[in-house]
Amino acid sequence: MNGYPGWMARLPLSVHSIPGETATSLASRLAQVNQVPLREFLRDMGIGIHSLIAGERAALTQLAELSGVPVAALRQGTPRTSDGEAWFAGHRFPAASVGGREVRGCPDCLEAEPGLRGIWSLPFVTICPEHNRPLVTLWTVQDRLDRHEVTRRLPELDLPAESS
Ligand SMILES: [Zn+2]
Repeated sequence: MNGYPGWMARLPLSVHSIPGETATSLASRLAQVNQVPLREFLRDMGIGIHSLIAGERAALTQLAELSGVPVAALRQGTPRTSDGEAWFAGHRFPAASVGGREVRGCPDCLEAEPGLRGIWSLPFVTICPEHNRPLVTLWTVQDRLDRHEVTRRLPELDLPAESS
């Protein structure tokens, strides 16, 4: 026993899954409901930041066990990057083209369900497939973990209304 009740067991406070959400965004929401900063949460749970952002299977499995969200759902929303390549929805891209400091999103999707969708990080996706409106730049953040901190950044955001 290591005395940590949350270790490798489902957390008492969880969040519902959002279709297409990235694992890191879900981790941000999970950390928030458990009232721990994301970086601290990942450290306490033994989830590697780099592994989670890269969508590695081990990190996603850990997060699935903690959150109760199926690992298949996490994989579906999370681009997998490895050796300079990125994979998403069965397609391959140069890893450098996926994600980046500039985080984009659809204000309508965020208003409905506040989580970052993996598809928004693909360079050629400029229109929300669900709402058919252009993605907007949500924020620009250098730090690779902080840029996924949806729960911290979203309340500060002044989302533009649908332009007329
Ligand atoms: Zn949308």
